[in-house]
Amino acid sequence: MRAPSFTHDVIIIGQGLAGTVLSATLQQRGRRVVVFDVPLAGRASEVAAGLVNPVVLRRTVLTWRASEMLAIAGAFYRDLGLQYDKAFWHPMPLVAIFPTAQEAGIWELRTKDPETMRFVRMDTSADQALDALPQPYGRGVVDRSAWVDVKALLAAHRNELRAGDALREQRVEAGDIIRYDDGIGIHDCSAPLVVHCAGPFAEVPGLVPVKGEGLTVRIPGLHLDRIVHRGVFLLPLGADVYRVGATFAWDDVWSGPSEEARHYLLDRTERLVEREVEVLDHWCGVRPASKDRRPLLGRIGTHEVVFNGLGSRGVMLAPWCAQQLCGHLLDGAPLDVEVRVERFG
Ligand SMILES: Cc1cc2nc3c(=O)[nH]c(=O)nc-3n(C[C@H](O)[C@H](O)[C@H](O)COP(=O)(O)OP(=O)(O)OC[C@H]3O[C@@H](n4cnc5c(N)ncnc54)[C@H](O)[C@@H]3O)c2cc1C
Repeated sequence: MRAPSFTHDVIIIGQGLAGTVLSATLQQRGRRVVVFDVPLAGRASEVAAGLVNPVVLRRTVLTWRASEMLAIAGAFYRDLGLQYDKAFWHPMPLVAIFPTAQEAGIWELRTKDPETMRFVRMDTSADQALDALPQPYGRGVVDRSAWVDVKALLAAHRNELRAGDALREQRVEAGDIIRYDDGIGIHDCSAPLVVHCAGPFAEVPGLVPVKGEGLTVRIPGLHLDRIVHRGVFLLPLGADVYRVGATFAWDDVWSGPSEEARHYLLDRTERLVEREVEVLDHWCGVRPASKDRRPLLGRIGTHEVVFNGLGSRGVMLAPWCAQQLCGHLLDGAPLDVEVRVERFG
C-alpha cells in the first residue's frame, strides 16, 4: 500500500537534543519536518547541565574527535541563537583542580603533547575566587570549553515548531506507526522517512541507559566565573547560583532522584568550596549511552532511521551527528563506520 500523498519530508519522534538539533538542521536544508514529542519522566536533555568539555579529565586525554566536534557544535549553537535572537552558547573556561600530585604531573606532561596542548594548560594565574579553594596540587585549565543553555534551546525550538504547526504533542505508540510501501504514516502526518530520536526510551541495539543526578545550589560569596571540576563540576549561573553534577548509575535507572546521590553531591561540593551550600533543586534523568560510547545512527528499516546514543556528551556530539545523518539521508553520503547502528546487529 502506498501513502496517499506525503504531508512532510521527515517525521521525527522525540524533541530532546537529538530531535531538536536534527529538525533544526533539516529545516535549514529546506525540508518540511514534523516532530512528535511528549515530556516523559526521566528524559535527559531537560536536565542536562550543558557542559561542552573536549577533555576527559580523569585521564587528561581529548574526547573522541574533539576539534571537529567542538568546531561544528560552536557554529551550530551560535547560528541557532542568532536565528532565535537568543544566546545558547556560552564560552567558559573549565578549571580542573588536581586531586593528587600524580594527576597534576600527568596534566603537566600533556601540556607538552602537540595535540593536547591546544586544549589544556597549567593555571598559575591569580584569581581571588579560585585561589580561595583548597588545591594543594594546583590546577589546570581547559580554555576552549563552554556550556549550552539546553533548556532554553529546547523551549525556543519548541515554540518555533509550534508556531509553524510542526509539533504534535502526542506520544507515539508502536501501533500508531503505519508502514506504507513508500513511507510512514503517524496520525495526521506522513513522510518518506521517520527518525526515532526517543533517547533512553528507545529500544535500540547497543543502547545503555545511565542514570544521572545533579543539584542547583546557592553558595553566597563564592563569586566563581569559570566552571570548576574536582570530582564534581560546579557551573556558575550568576547571582550565587551554581549547577553541580553529575552522578553515574547503571542500575535502577528509572527510580528518580535519590537521597544517596543528593548526599554525595552536597558532600563533594562542600568539601570543594569549604562553605555552606544551600540546595535549591535536585534533578535526575537517564542518559542514552551506548556500549562503545559512540552515537547510534542510521537506518533500521527502509523508511526508518535512528538517531540515538548521545551518552554523557550529547551537547557536543548532536550537531555533528545531525550533519552526518543529513549528509547520509539527503545526499547519499556514507555514514561514518564508527557510528553506524548496525554495528550492534
Ligand atoms: C543529569 C544529567 C546531566 C547531563 N549533563 C550533560 C552535560 O553537561 N553535557 C552534555 O553534553 N550532556 C549531558 N547530559 C547528557 C545529555 O542530556 C544527553 O546526551 C542528551 O540530552 C540526549 O538527548 P536525546 O534527545 O537523545 O534524549 P532525551 O533528551 O531523553 O529526549 C527524548 C525525547 O523524546 C521523547 N519521547 C520518547 N519517546 C517518545 C514517544 N514514543 N512519543 C513522543 N515522545 C517521545 C521524550 O519525552 C524526550 O522529550 C546529561 C544527562 C543527564 C541525565
